[in-house]
Amino acid sequence: MKQDRLKNIQDIMHDYPKYVDSKVVFEEIPDCVTLAVTISNCPFRCKGCHSDYLRKNVGDNLTNEAIDDLLSKNKGVNCFLFLGDGLNIDSLCDRAFYIKNKYPSIKTAVYSGYDYIISEYKEVFDYVKTGKWIESKGPLHVKTTNQRLFKIVDGIQEDITYKFWQRI
Ligand code: SF4
Repeated sequence: MKQDRLKNIQDIMHDYPKYVDSKVVFEEIPDCVTLAVTISNCPFRCKGCHSDYLRKNVGDNLTNEAIDDLLSKNKGVNCFLFLGDGLNIDSLCDRAFYIKNKYPSIKTAVYSGYDYIISEYKEVFDYVKTGKWIESKGPLHVKTTNQRLFKIVDGIQEDITYKFWQRI
């Protein structure tokens, strides 16, 4: 039993990120038409989590072929957003790297639950949202939020969270 559990964890760690669904959104990344893809195996346990099913090992493998398929069905988007980190940061970064190389006109973004920008993310993402969900502080579009959205150009990060507040 213990060995089964260990194998399950090893599979997740070495596997592709898994995605549960996808949809085109307009507000998550300012000035972009974004294909948002929900990633499971969330490593966090935020109090008041709005999507606790995403903590489980559910969904389909986000392979390069799956990315091609999603983008071919959603022509016109100019940003690919990973909604979540999953358990395997390297594999997530590999997928972002694939998008940057094959689709240079498409920006890459991640809504991360970490409170800082993981160094690997600076190499492959144009936008990184940081910060766990804290209900009392609210989401990105309220000024009390703990979360931040950074734009990254040539490794330099700029906090652009204020762009959400301009819409209030
Ligand atoms: S990061 Fe999102 S999905 Fe994960 S525990 Fe927090 S609120 Fe839930």
